[in-house]
Amino acid sequence: MTAREPRFLAQVNRWVADGTAELWFRGYPGGSENHERWRGIPNMRALANSLACSLNINTATQVLKVMVQQDRWKVEFTDGGLIHARNILLTAPVPQSLEIIDRGGTYLSQDQRIRLQKLTYDPCIAVMALLEGPSKIPAPGMLVPDIDDIDWISDNMKKGVSKIPSVTIHASSDFSGTHFDEDQDEVAKKIINLSKSWLGASVKHYMVHRWRYSKPRCVDKERFMLIQHNPTLMIAGDAFAGPRVEGAFLSGCNAAEALIAHIEK
Ligand SMILES: Cc1cc2nc3c(=O)[nH]c(=O)nc-3n(C[C@H](O)[C@H](O)[C@H](O)COP(=O)(O)OP(=O)(O)OC[C@H]3O[C@@H](n4cnc5c(N)ncnc54)[C@H](O)[C@@H]3O)c2cc1C
Repeated sequence: MTAREPRFLAQVNRWVADGTAELWFRGYPGGSENHERWRGIPNMRALANSLACSLNINTATQVLKVMVQQDRWKVEFTDGGLIHARNILLTAPVPQSLEIIDRGGTYLSQDQRIRLQKLTYDPCIAVMALLEGPSKIPAPGMLVPDIDDIDWISDNMKKGVSKIPSVTIHASSDFSGTHFDEDQDEVAKKIINLSKSWLGASVKHYMVHRWRYSKPRCVDKERFMLIQHNPTLMIAGDAFAGPRVEGAFLSGCNAAEALIAHIEK
């Protein structure tokens, strides 16, 4: 990840000081800029864990809809579970947040709906492949191949997040869009084949992950959106501050501050 704004750089410095992150490399292979690239220790999950350690979190729980019931929000889950809350901050990809809101029948102004509908995303198909031997990707373990169908490949061993030779191959948004609904083994084989000349060793095993909402194509003018006051519903996420970890962090911070200020009034 990069850190361009002082507020996020300060957080990265805190992570570096407590051993949660370190500098991976500077610049972009083949690119002209010279930004520092940071990585989590032992992986990127450590960053989220460090921010969330004091929170009570339910994972693998899908929200179906949110709706106002008297002075509270009622949140319904797909497994039939329910919670009630005074304040809600939705950070799912915007099309999914919009579905959650619409299913509950919450009113959005025309301006809000238009702004939210503009926030569309590129898909990404990524393949994580375990190799029989080391890849041909040079240090620091990040390669931008000169072909249209692959965006970038990371060597996870050189990056320091894997003890055995493995790579993560990110297909381009065009390739991912075209092949998104195809059989995932077929797509994985195509992606591995396209990357063959940089792998340098045969693939022992692979996993495919498809992100329908991988990268916002544009960014909203505000850092979060207040949908309703009291009980409060807000939307935030990287579509409000830039398509990267930094953007998600900054949007979250701004939304949280506004929510706290509102609660304290
Ligand atoms: C393959 C890939 C590689 C990337 N590489 C980099 C990189 O190198 N550097 C960088 O800075 N950024 C990178 N990014 C971008 C970065 O990951 C995102 O900008 C960031 O994760 C966005 O955070 P977010 O909280 O806004 O949304 P997300 O991380 O998308 O989180 C949204 C969450 O909402 C959950 N959700 C959705 N619907 C529901 C529902 N109905 N109920 C409950 N939960 C729901 C999802 O499961 C998800 O966990 C990458 C992204 C992808 C896809």
